[in-house]
Amino acid sequence: MDADHQRLIRQVRQRLESLARAGVDRAPLGPLPAITPSMIASAVPRTSRAEPPRASVVDQPEPQEADSSATVAPLPRRRPAAPTPPPATPATIGSLFDEPGISEPVIPPEERPEALRVLAEEIASCVRCEVLCANRTNTVPGEGNASARLMFVGEGPGQTEDETGRPFVGKAGKLLDDMITKGMGLRRQDVFIANIVKCRPPNNRDPEPEEVRNCIGYLERQIAIIRPEFLCLLGKPAAQTLLNTSMPMGRLRGKWQRYKGIPTIATWHPAYLLRNPSAKKDTWEDLQMLMKAMGIPIQKRGGGG
Ligand code: SF4
Repeated sequence: MDADHQRLIRQVRQRLESLARAGVDRAPLGPLPAITPSMIASAVPRTSRAEPPRASVVDQPEPQEADSSATVAPLPRRRPAAPTPPPATPATIGSLFDEPGISEPVIPPEERPEALRVLAEEIASCVRCEVLCANRTNTVPGEGNASARLMFVGEGPGQTEDETGRPFVGKAGKLLDDMITKGMGLRRQDVFIANIVKCRPPNNRDPEPEEVRNCIGYLERQIAIIRPEFLCLLGKPAAQTLLNTSMPMGRLRGKWQRYKGIPTIATWHPAYLLRNPSAKKDTWEDLQMLMKAMGIPIQKRGGGG
């Protein structure tokens, strides 16, 4: 075998080894076959000195790493595992107020009654809703514990509420009292009760969207002052407004929602329960969800209202 053959054998072997390293044919690597001069003669024609050398397989550039990766889909990068958040406990619920939406500073508990009183005075002088102002006897800002763990939010004052300036004191209010005391085992003065509008809509109609827009800021400020741990929304207008949804009550109730980070339950309005007593069992289930979360023992009280 002359020197040319030996050089060609060496080059072909290097080329085959290079292809095998790059995994071009994805075949398992095995021993390379012996290369004979006749194989080379048939695969690589000898060049004549008279002709310019023809490009052969050994003259082609080596495959680059980038070339082989271009034909193989890159593996997705693994993200580092996210740390597991600690379970929510009553002690950590306060941190939920750090979520966007409640930007007001926390008012110390001892200053909250005065902050609510000042806000009630502002409400009493409000004239944003022409129709409601013309119709009202009193504004009804809300009442209760200024540091309540639980806040009830209804829709708007009725006739008795308008006459007295107090929320939920008519027939529906009596049922709400029963839900709070007989159902949940709390006292009315333990909770805070308010509405999304502070003036009575005529003929007990639902408040108009513009009236809700005018008034909702007062409720938001009350919530920011009181910082309740839990909200209970009574009826469709309150639930749809605070949860910013048009879902029907049947789909809103019976599960936990959040309003600006505050764990929230929506349930039927007491006035609806007076007209539809069979729905009381739903409300009792909703109250039990609240009681469980608040750590209130659930006894057989025969239903909320
Ligand atoms: S309903 Fe609210 S916004 Fe409208 S006039 Fe009464 S307090 Fe003002």
